[in-house]
Amino acid sequence: TRKPFVVANWKMNGSLKANADWIETALPQMSGTRLHCDVAVCAPSVYLSQLVKGFEHSATLVGAQNCAQYTQGAYTGEVSAGMLADIGCDLVILGHSERRTLFGETDETVAEKVKLAFDNGVMPIVCVGETLQEREAGQTIEVVSRQLRAVLNKVGIMPLVAGAVAYEPVWAIGTGKSASAEDAQAVHQALRAVLAEVDEEASKRTRILYGGSVKAKNAPELFAQPDIDGALVGGASLKAEDFLAICHCA
Ligand code: 13P
Repeated sequence: TRKPFVVANWKMNGSLKANADWIETALPQMSGTRLHCDVAVCAPSVYLSQLVKGFEHSATLVGAQNCAQYTQGAYTGEVSAGMLADIGCDLVILGHSERRTLFGETDETVAEKVKLAFDNGVMPIVCVGETLQEREAGQTIEVVSRQLRAVLNKVGIMPLVAGAVAYEPVWAIGTGKSASAEDAQAVHQALRAVLAEVDEEASKRTRILYGGSVKAKNAPELFAQPDIDGALVGGASLKAEDFLAICHCA
């Protein structure tokens, strides 16, 4: 019942030229019925208008990688959820571990941002994940459940039904060390149980993506798991061919 969802997270990469080349390569394969999944590309905010225009006649969604925790005003350097909606941006990644660890985002600020995104019609992809230290201490389920509940307590489950949850173990991001399909499935199952505490029926409609060193090589095994509904792809999304190869696994 859940359509697979494969999302590119370019992080702080790209240029007008490189993005145009990516779109030109990907567009023919992303149109019509060639893929069995929903697809989104999340780019630095300065390039979002380029992507909105580039993908305007395709089903490909365009996403940001962050938004402000405030509506508007004297917040130099920030981009609001309303502005993302204004330029035609469909979704936004929130609470990525790089935002949490490098830019001081907390469970509370992430929940605040999810609320603003959803209120403005921008679908949130909410990231959760444990560090290596937390995993080794046996705290994985506790940590990701806490991160997810912080959002559920503030906004309920509907923003996640519209968007997605992404499980990204921090130790698997950019390291080439993906979680095993079995380990990832166990965490996804636990996350769905947390969603079901709020609304069982809605939990079955919420897509939970896996992120962390996903490539075409490990994607089939991950996608075969019952609670893994797609992927959030970093490094392997920078080349259109690599990203499309992952989409074709769904
Ligand atoms: P990698 O695919 O480069 O490991 O990054 C994962 C990620 O952080 C996607 O948001």
